[in-house]
Amino acid sequence: MKKNRVIQINIGKPTDGQTQVRLEAARLWNDIVRLHRYIRKRHWKWPTESKMKAHVKGKYALHSQTIQKLVEKLYDSIDSTQTKREQGDKKARYPWKCKKKFQTVTWKQSAIRRKGNRLNLSNGRGVKGLSIKIPLDQLPQGKITGIELGYRTLYISIQDVVEKPESAGDNTVAADLGIIHTAVMTDGIKSTAVVGRGLRSLTQGKSKKIAGYSRLIDKCEQGSRRRRKLKAEKARYLARYHRQVHNLLHHTANKMIDFAVERQAGTLVVGDVTEIARNKRKQKKGSRRSNQENSGNPLGRLVEYLTYKGKLRGVDVVKINESYTTQTCPKCGHRHKPSGRNYKCQGCGYVAARDEVGACNILNKYIHNGRMVPDSILPTGSVKYLRPTLLRKSPVVVALNEPTLFGITLDSVLASEDAGSVEPSKQSLVA
Ligand SMILES: [Zn+2]
Repeated sequence: MKKNRVIQINIGKPTDGQTQVRLEAARLWNDIVRLHRYIRKRHWKWPTESKMKAHVKGKYALHSQTIQKLVEKLYDSIDSTQTKREQGDKKARYPWKCKKKFQTVTWKQSAIRRKGNRLNLSNGRGVKGLSIKIPLDQLPQGKITGIELGYRTLYISIQDVVEKPESAGDNTVAADLGIIHTAVMTDGIKSTAVVGRGLRSLTQGKSKKIAGYSRLIDKCEQGSRRRRKLKAEKARYLARYHRQVHNLLHHTANKMIDFAVERQAGTLVVGDVTEIARNKRKQKKGSRRSNQENSGNPLGRLVEYLTYKGKLRGVDVVKINESYTTQTCPKCGHRHKPSGRNYKCQGCGYVAARDEVGACNILNKYIHNGRMVPDSILPTGSVKYLRPTLLRKSPVVVALNEPTLFGITLDSVLASEDAGSVEPSKQSLVA
């Protein structure tokens, strides 16, 4: 099995050679964007990707595959605009900006030679290549499949061949992804939650801050120094926000896969979160607050992380439709919308923690091929709460390697595990 990863290396101030190729790539980019725009405006037949490749071949001081890659980039962008416009987004614009000063340069595998800690990048026949020295401790082993050169940074794609892991087991774990608890997981016997408060507070703060920056920027005069400074600050803030969210999601995904492996589950079932987001948008219902929570919700990305991390450890991630899983009583199948932290059945009086009900019903639905069979999988009544990582206010997220118990002591958890056979409805539930 192949495992791909990308590492980012800071290479400092660009050399003349680096600047040269980035300028040349921008020249190519501007030319093809301008050409495509010209043809578009006159409603002529658009050139296909292969025609465009043939047209620019050999005309630039770049490696032939570097040129192809840029054409591919343009056509990717054209394709995605086309899809967006078909879906009704009339504001989506085809590439039109053709005054780029610099452009990111990509080298494919055949243009890259590695000599110790030096990377030699070919720019085609008759053109001087680039040679970039990488600090030795930063360049890992493995096959280099691609390189991207931007301003002061180098992105190196590395492929390692790893043995395909054995399946983690025959068991199945279901996860209910949500906003209060990023994930509540259960296999019907043991339940764990990963707390999402850090994630939520990040997302909430973001909308407010961005609005604040935008307001200030609007007040500034066009082209003023203050406007430029504010814009840079906003960009820096956003970049940090994205790093923090990434970090949290990675930790959460790791904790979730850990749990699946611990429970010997080769299958991790999650609700299809993309579906909810789309339906919510269509209905345009809900309070402003809950809309804010849903838009820009990074749970979709969490599922992506789970999928690739799961692959490396023998856990298959399966998405199922999660409709009614939070509303249905696991004991009698009665359906109603719960309010508050606990689920109280209006039919039979059954009480359980709301989040755990969701996870149990997803598992139930998966095991019984899309149907929830009443009284087959019941909440355990004891959920262990894990924090993905410790969140510091500023400026960085500190990684914690060990899970922290949230709000409960180890003794109380162990005690509640021993008392696992007690009916959940008779236990007092902590909100
Ligand atoms: Zn019931």
